[in-house]
Amino acid sequence: MTEDKNFVVAIDGPAGSGKSTVAKLIAKKLKLLYIDTGAMYRALTFAALSNNVNPLDNSSVTKLAKKCRIELEDTPAGLRVSLNSIDVTCEIRSPKVNSHVSDVAKIKEVREIMVKEQRRLASGKGVVLEGRDIGTVVFPDARYKFYLDASVNERAKRRVKEMPGAKPNDVKANVLLRDKIDSSREIGPLKKAQDAVYVDTTDMTIEEVVDTILKKINVTRCT
Ligand code: C5P
Repeated sequence: MTEDKNFVVAIDGPAGSGKSTVAKLIAKKLKLLYIDTGAMYRALTFAALSNNVNPLDNSSVTKLAKKCRIELEDTPAGLRVSLNSIDVTCEIRSPKVNSHVSDVAKIKEVREIMVKEQRRLASGKGVVLEGRDIGTVVFPDARYKFYLDASVNERAKRRVKEMPGAKPNDVKANVLLRDKIDSSREIGPLKKAQDAVYVDTTDMTIEEVVDTILKKINVTRCT
C-alpha cells in the first residue's frame, strides 16, 4: 500500500489511447499534480507556427524553445496552457498544430529542454505525467508506469469525437503519421518501458481503465 504522496505515475501511449482523460482522473482521485507533457510540445509548435518559424528548422525551433515560457495550470475547468502568459489552451489543439507537433518533438535539443522542465515541474511532488517518454526517459524510476494502447481505428474514432467537424480520414491519417514519427525518432521515442503495465483500452470504458490503474497503485489514502 502506498502511504507517502511523493510518487510519480507515468502514463505513456499513442494519440487516442485514452491517456489524457485517464491521467487527469487518476491525478484528481489521488490528489496529485497532473502534467500533460504533450501540451508543452504543442505550445512550442504553436509558438513556431505563429512566429513563422519552420518546424523542421532545428536550430530556430531550439532558439524559440529557450525563449518560450510555457505554463500549465490545472483549473476546475480543465488544463489551462499559456505561452508567454497568453492563454493558448484551444489553439494548441488545432489541426495545424497536430500536423507539425511531431516534427518539433523529434528535435533533440527541444526534447532536452522539455525533459528538464518536466522534471523541474514534478520535483518533490506527487505527480501523474502523461506523454510518450515518461517511463523511459523523463522518470525511468517512476514508482508506477503504464502504457495505454488501443487499435488505430478506435483511437482515430476517439479523436474525431474530440474534434467536431474534422474529417475522419484526415484524423486517422494524422494519428498514423504521428505514431510513425513519434515511434521512429532517435531520442525519447514512443515506447513501452520494459517495466510498464500494458493496458489495451480498445474495448474498455474510461472507468474500467481508471479502475485498472488504481488497483495497480493500490492507494487507499484518498478513497
Ligand atoms: O499527447 P499529445 O497527443 O497531445 O502529444 C502531442 C505530440 O507531442 C505527440 O504526437 C508527440 O509528438 C509529442 N510528445 C512527445 N513526448 C511527450 C509528449 C508528447 O514527443 N512526452
